Amino acid sequence: MSFSNLGLSDKVLAAVAATGYTTPTPIQEQAIPHVLARRDVLGIAQTGTGKTAAFVLPMLTLLEKGRARARMPRTLILEPTRELAAQVKENFDKYGAGQKLNVALLIGGVSFGDQDSKLTRGVDVLIATPGRLLDHTERGGLLLTGVELLVIDEADRMLDMGFIPDIERICKLVPFTRQTLFFTATMPPEIRRITEAFLHNPQKVEVSRPASTAVTVSQLQVGCGREAHEKRDILRQLIRGAKDLKNAIIFCNRKREVALLHKSLLKHGFSAVALHGDMEQPARMAALDQFRKGESALLVASDVAARGLDIPEVSHVFNFDVPHHPDDYVHRVGRTGRAGRLGTAISIVSPADQKSVVAIEKLIGQPIPAMEGAPVADVTNLDISERPSRSSSRRGGDKRRGDRAPKERQTAERPSQERQPQERQPQERHTQERHPEKSGEERKPRRNEQRGGRGRKSEIDSNSVAPIQTASSPPSIGRLRSEPAASRDAGADAGDHSHLPAFLLRPIRARV
Ligand code: AMP
Repeated sequence: MSFSNLGLSDKVLAAVAATGYTTPTPIQEQAIPHVLARRDVLGIAQTGTGKTAAFVLPMLTLLEKGRARARMPRTLILEPTRELAAQVKENFDKYGAGQKLNVALLIGGVSFGDQDSKLTRGVDVLIATPGRLLDHTERGGLLLTGVELLVIDEADRMLDMGFIPDIERICKLVPFTRQTLFFTATMPPEIRRITEAFLHNPQKVEVSRPASTAVTVSQLQVGCGREAHEKRDILRQLIRGAKDLKNAIIFCNRKREVALLHKSLLKHGFSAVALHGDMEQPARMAALDQFRKGESALLVASDVAARGLDIPEVSHVFNFDVPHHPDDYVHRVGRTGRAGRLGTAISIVSPADQKSVVAIEKLIGQPIPAMEGAPVADVTNLDISERPSRSSSRRGGDKRRGDRAPKERQTAERPSQERQPQERQPQERHTQERHPEKSGEERKPRRNEQRGGRGRKSEIDSNSVAPIQTASSPPSIGRLRSEPAASRDAGADAGDHSHLPAFLLRPIRARV
């Protein structure tokens, strides 16, 4: 199948050819003809499948006819985060270079005045986050009655972020006769309900099993104690010991942890940038840019900030924290192993994370193997040879705070602000857009996460051992700066252990 069989216009085909793409991806092949035929489409596809072009290319073809009117956009694309919205705009800039279309971005962190004047000039494609879009409609500066085509992208993410009530309101503001393209990676019941309410006889297009991880990604887990400094120590060892590490995204569950870990990595001589929702928009874009260009090998990020971002060729993903929601795991792991490339995803698992790991394994339908020779969570007073298998350590559980039923934990941890954006008043929403930390574009720390660092003392005292390294020197990892020579050499007497994972060379100190 080639792009020329899909019904796209000559201009769009020329733009595709200029990017060097010769074959449509499965989602493009299946969705584009239906979009051009003006059908509603329900696309079940993860990021990395080429789904953005699956709606951008036919939209560009359809938009060649007709003109925009002031304050009445012809098409509307809803995205959960500013970065995703900006990424979609880049797609329009890339594929629509030969067309004179007005494409506007309505996202928080940008002045209303500039956005208003763009709307006044008439917009062919409006790409927006739900909150800022509703702000504009409530101010009377925007009419959605001219929208012919509506795209709801990353719908399951919108659900996670509590945007569904906003989406429902927006759907009621656009004409009933519009065409709707709806993309989601998973189909939880709430999303199914929305699709039944707002799509008309949609053509369903599914390109991969929902919530599956790519077969090209090696997934591993490494146990650790509870202390944050121990996790950081393990992460540094994983980075230094990783084979073929070109670059990596390191995920944390909390914004605060992102900032702390970023600082710590810099202190230890790594080249790293951070991405989380508390950062100002220009700083977020600059960090992403640095990582994309390879100027920084490590990106420390929170889920919301990194979800769906198109960062090709990420060799490694580290879960510094195991995500509480299994879907997040799938999305994180999906940052590597894209487009058939090989990737590695390693999760650092503390005793409290065991239940999350069980839920993840259930969702992805496969166990996440323990990294060979790596420490296993909850190990005390044991020599390495006596370590229990992963399953037996899991049975031990975390009696102090991790043993609540998963459902109960989820409810308790779900922040109310995220869940009820419909209760925000218009004025309040303006404030929130100016202060991204309140905008609902980032998860708040969950109750039991806020107690980080106060758990029982780590079993493995990282201060008692020198930083380890296998006997062979660490693989070259591009722009990662390494530790001072003294600490690098600490494991140089490891003899013939060069084949062993670094963890096996690390003394375990029994607690007395
Ligand atoms: P997306 O799923 O939209 O985030 O796209 C993932 C990546 O695939 C992006 O870097 C696109 O530029 C790239 N891409 C999209 N369509 C194609 C194609 N037909 N062939 C090769 N790469 C593509």
